[in-house]
This record gives sequence, structure tokens and C-alpha cells, in this order.
Amino acid sequence: MNGRWARRIMIFALVLSISTPSLWATDKKQKDDIDSIGNRDVGKGMNRYSIEKEIALGKSLAQEVERTSKVIDDPIIAEYVNRVGQNLVKHSDAQVPFTIKVIDSDEVNAFALPGGFFFVNTGLILAAENECELAGVMAHEIAHVAARHGTRQATRAEVANWATLPLIFLGGWAGYGIRQAVGLALPLGFLKFSRGFEEEADYLGVQYMYAAGYDPNGMVTFFERIQAKEKHKPGAVAKAFSTHPQTPDRIERAQKEITQLLPSKEAYVVTTSDFDSIKGRLQGIENRRTVEEAKSDRPTLKRKTSGDTTDVDESTDKKKTEDEAPPTLKRRN
Ligand code: ZN
Repeated sequence: MNGRWARRIMIFALVLSISTPSLWATDKKQKDDIDSIGNRDVGKGMNRYSIEKEIALGKSLAQEVERTSKVIDDPIIAEYVNRVGQNLVKHSDAQVPFTIKVIDSDEVNAFALPGGFFFVNTGLILAAENECELAGVMAHEIAHVAARHGTRQATRAEVANWATLPLIFLGGWAGYGIRQAVGLALPLGFLKFSRGFEEEADYLGVQYMYAAGYDPNGMVTFFERIQAKEKHKPGAVAKAFSTHPQTPDRIERAQKEITQLLPSKEAYVVTTSDFDSIKGRLQGIENRRTVEEAKSDRPTLKRKTSGDTTDVDESTDKKKTEDEAPPTLKRRN
């Protein structure tokens, strides 16, 4: 089959999927059935990527993220965040295994790449009031992966490109990666999802939280909190992440889902002592870093974005902080 026909068929499939409301109705019903979480095909939809291809794509993008940012090596923090995440994955529709890593960055951000490569910034953990809020953001991101939003959106973009620029668009993801790699640590295009995909991630994420035993309201309160934080201190929240605005109708929709869809439980997990000690541990690291930077004669720039490499003296910085751990940190252990 030549390229032109493949293109025509894809465009036809896109038009068909948009113009067939009954398909959406079935999907919607299935998405409401919380008892069959894990056995629902929430990721179906036009997609040029097989699961294997999606995992390979996510893996190479994840390597790029790790190359350009500092993944935290504190095993206690890494283990905790991974544990919270894997428990949510277990109660989700995701069909891929997840790799969860923590990035040392003040910026409030979390993102899951196609294929289950999930990164959480320390700034996000510090901004959360309790484990339930952290779980809310993680559940939302896991939902993007479970519903395969990244590759489905890429497919849509490629189809749109074919329709308008058939001769210019050449390389799909590979070409995209090369073009983006020049100036950006990570191509952000596929992390900015359509409004429909964001709503779906809210919808599914709330269910995953509930299934994992959390208070599903945590997602709403956290998005409200970071919106306030960004207002108070512009730039504190990563650009891609701030495309998750909790508009009043979105909050209302999530609350409606919680009351209509999820039978109330006797008790929900709001927080754990593990969350408190991890947050204390992170605050300790932050405080010591601030003190070290103040002591230092040379001007240092505060680490802000994950791609920022201006704070070069990290090895000595870390050594000092390990040697001079204040007693409060030990008590929290
Ligand atoms: Zn999202």
C-alpha cells in the first residue's frame, strides 16, 4: 500500500471515530464500571503505535530525561515514591509495567511518558499536604499512560500533518525528537494533552485513587493548591504541568463523579507517617542546601528546572550534607 492511500485511510478513520457518537457512549459506560478496572480497554482509539513501539519510544525519551536531569539517589525517598506509584498502577487500567523515578528539582512537576516511564519532581512532593494529594497527581499521570494519550495524540498530530503538509513531514517521532533535542531537554508537545484527554485522565485517575483506598478528593484539593501556588509565585509550577488547570467546571465534574460513581467507604487513606517522614527528609535536604549556598562565596543559582546544570558543585555539596545531617533527620527515620 502506498503512502497516499495509507494517509487517506487514516484520515477516514479519524473522521469516522469523531462522527460516531455510539462508540463514545459504549466507552463511557465501560469507563464507569469501577469493578472491572484493569480489564477495560481504556487505551483503545486510533493509534499508529503498537504497545512495544510505545514502550521503546518512552524508554528512549526517558533516557533523554535522565541524561539532562538529576535523578535522586536517596534510596528511602525513591522507594517510597515508587511504592505509592506501583500501588496505584496495580489499581489502574495500565497494561504496561511502570518505572518510577524522582527528579531533584524545586519545580512542581510530574509527568509520565508513553509506555510507563514516570518522573516525579521533589518540588511536587514538597507541595503536597498529604499522601492522598501526591497520589492524586500520580493517579492522573498513570491514567494518561493507561489510556495511551501520548501516542494517540501523536497519531492525531501526524494525521493532521499528513493532511496539511504531506511533503514536509518526514520522520514521525524520530524526526520530532531530533528537531526538539536541539533546544529542549524533553519534547513537550506530547505532554500537553487535549482538553478531552485531560478530562479523561481526571475521570480515570479519581477511580484509581478510590480503588487504591485513597480519598478521591485529594486530586481536586491538590490541583487547587498548586494553582494558588503558581498565582502567588509565578514560575513555581512547570509550564507543562500548569496546563492542568483546575477550572471550576473541571472541579465540579470530578466532584460529581465522586458522588455519583463511587460508593462511599467507611474510611479513606488521607496520609501516612511515611509521607510525613519523606517530606521531612526532603525538607532537610533543601534546608542544608540553602545553608551551603549561603556559606559559599561564589554565586550559585538555585536549582529550578530539571534541565538546569548551573549548580555544578553537586558531588561536594552532597558529601557535606551527608556528614552534617542534623539530629532531627535521624529522629524522623
Ligand atoms: Zn494531565
